[in-house]
Amino acid sequence: MQFLLHHTVITQAISNNDLKTLKQCRDKKSAGWVLSNSLTTIHSDLSKTLKADEAHSTLKDALQGIAVASLTGSEILETPPSSKMDYLDSLAVRTVEKFKLDGIITLQPEIFADSEIRVLQPNELPQILKDDLAKVNKVPLLNIPATFPQIWNDAEQEISDVVRSGYFILGPKVAELEKQVAAYCQVPYAVGVSSGTDALLLALMAADIGPGDEVITSTYTFFATAGSIVRTGAKPVFVDIDPVTFNMNIEQTKAAITPNTKAIMPVHLYGQCVDMTPLQDLAKQHKLHVIEDACQAIGSEYEGKRAGGLGDFGCFSFFPTKNLGGFGDAGMVTTRSVELYEKMKVLRVHGMEPKYYHKMVGGNFRIDALQAGILLAKLPHLEGWVSDRRANAQRYHDLFKKAGLTDHLTLPKEVFPRHVYNQYIVRVANGKRDALREYLNSQNVACEIYYPVSLHQQECFEDLGHKQGDFPEAEKASAETLALPVANEVTAEQQEYAVEKTKSFFS
Ligand SMILES: *Cc1c(COP(=O)(O)O)cnc(C)c1O
Repeated sequence: MQFLLHHTVITQAISNNDLKTLKQCRDKKSAGWVLSNSLTTIHSDLSKTLKADEAHSTLKDALQGIAVASLTGSEILETPPSSKMDYLDSLAVRTVEKFKLDGIITLQPEIFADSEIRVLQPNELPQILKDDLAKVNKVPLLNIPATFPQIWNDAEQEISDVVRSGYFILGPKVAELEKQVAAYCQVPYAVGVSSGTDALLLALMAADIGPGDEVITSTYTFFATAGSIVRTGAKPVFVDIDPVTFNMNIEQTKAAITPNTKAIMPVHLYGQCVDMTPLQDLAKQHKLHVIEDACQAIGSEYEGKRAGGLGDFGCFSFFPTKNLGGFGDAGMVTTRSVELYEKMKVLRVHGMEPKYYHKMVGGNFRIDALQAGILLAKLPHLEGWVSDRRANAQRYHDLFKKAGLTDHLTLPKEVFPRHVYNQYIVRVANGKRDALREYLNSQNVACEIYYPVSLHQQECFEDLGHKQGDFPEAEKASAETLALPVANEVTAEQQEYAVEKTKSFFS
């Protein structure tokens, strides 16, 4: 739950040196916000007993982990003070509404008695949190605002920096993000781009892949993997998947190599890496590029090395549903080669180098500075979120076993640590997947199918001449898999609810 902390609560907490309520509001389960306009009021109150600079530093320390909510100028101007409430309190009500918070915590509940918002006192908080956690009746796949309190102050700072600078495309924020993502992926270079799809396209272009060339990839992946191959004029050559990891079958990859093969595009699906050692051996032997589709796998590891550093190129997406997501579209290509890095930087801007001189044809693959800023604000939290996802996966594992459901469900297996669980995928036996999905949805447990149709069966790839039965493991996976809510913000109680509902479906 998320609450606005009324200035009375903060002033009293600091004056009495009793920070219990503030501490409770920087938990995974509850977050606290303070209205920016109230900071000066709190400071004035504290200054009655403290020197101004002491009051300031005490306030700053006490608000660690509390997000500062700012209304826009228009919102402030549109909010009239009422006869029952002073201006600041009217703004507090407006903040709770605008930020969709669960209520206000105050020492003066009577002030807000006539408002529509939920009002509680600090001593009521523990019980309310307990009751709220116990009464799970909904499990969304994703709840992006749940992580806002963690990132808000930094994200807002980044947005303001960019807007005030007037520098919106590429520039210093993007350079900083590239540096930090490269370090995170343990590679020397990274190029920020407009999406994961453009990351794939840019890598293919930098590898000089085009008409007449073949690129081997999995048939069981998001469309962009093969779509980007086709957009270069090359031919995607599909292989089936390993039934345990859902990733490309290495033996079939070997068998699919022809004199026209230029690259292999392994997809680290759901957040677990492809078995890269035999793939790297194949690539070396046949002089092929390896372009990792790591769009679901930032932070994933294979034999101690991070995704993005396992091939010639690592392609990442910062679509909002990925483990590291922007407030819009963005992507990144990582590489260990300085030549490929330099080439991608030129291709990203229409092959232009120097300005208005073009030696090659590239595209507009630029990332904007606002997205880079948001991602800079989020990146320091990524490892924590990966740990939360992994803990959630382990919890499902334990709960499903305890519930005796493993005859009905095949649980995902971490074959190559570490899996980062962009998705938690179970297989549902005996043709019951769609019925289970419908039932869970009816019980407000969100679940999804990734992906219902393999790429070799897509209409737009008809001319590749595939038919049903060509890749039986992928087709089977399309009919059996179901993704359950596993994101970092999903609580243990929500998982228990999801497992309980799954159990009632099977009993
Ligand atoms: C998300 C995703 C992409 C595409 O990324 P966008 O940022 O949406 O363009 C490509 N491949 C895979 C496997 C993905 O999951």
